[in-house]
Amino acid sequence: MTCRIDLHNHSCLSPCASLEMSPSRLVREAYKKNINILALTDHNAVDNLPAFKICCERAGICPVFGLEVTGREEAHLLCLFGELKTAMKFGYEIYENLSSVINDPEKMGDQIIVDEDENILGELEKFLAGGAVDYAMEELIPMVHERGGLFIPAHIDRPAFSISSQLGFLPANSYDAVEVMHSPCSLNSFGYPEITGSDAHYPENVGQRSFTIDLPHANFDSFKAFLHKSN
Ligand SMILES: [Zn+2]
Ligand SMILES: [Zn+2]
Repeated sequence: MTCRIDLHNHSCLSPCASLEMSPSRLVREAYKKNINILALTDHNAVDNLPAFKICCERAGICPVFGLEVTGREEAHLLCLFGELKTAMKFGYEIYENLSSVINDPEKMGDQIIVDEDENILGELEKFLAGGAVDYAMEELIPMVHERGGLFIPAHIDRPAFSISSQLGFLPANSYDAVEVMHSPCSLNSFGYPEITGSDAHYPENVGQRSFTIDLPHANFDSFKAFLHKSN
């Protein structure tokens, strides 16, 4: 079947995202745009994934449970999982390890945890979009792979906060794919499978850089098998 996929989206937990971007709003927008496989990837935190799962189930969309980790190189790295439990455990480790700058909601934006019906459950204390975790990218990759996840450096052709902008080049490593803003990528991506992602922070951006491929089933394992075949 032809699947429309979008694996990079933020919710109201990310301080830089719109407060309107509850998991339920994200899923509603994705549904309107005929997306079959959708990931939520907040910065360095996973607390809105449980609500995201319920919203996706209600809409008949396959959820991918992710986060956008800021590694020691200060590059953004997408870590994606097929199971909520695995993503939560990994995500709590990441948040625990994140440098502890306390968020100032007035200046930096709110970091709101909500349930599937947009009821506010709380907010996160550490500033999610500023610091970094104390793991280098090459330490993070096996941590994700051991847990059955996919490791995809984010927006490698962006001039800021990408592994290539931070290091000046894309080092060879066991990426499952690389995410590009513009396809084909202006940068040499050395034959890694290229995907695009919306990196939506506002409802109107959901789906703007989604992509379509043929998969036997609209689920995480089929997508993973597809990447590994093309790798
Ligand atoms: Zn990013
Ligand atoms: Zn992002």
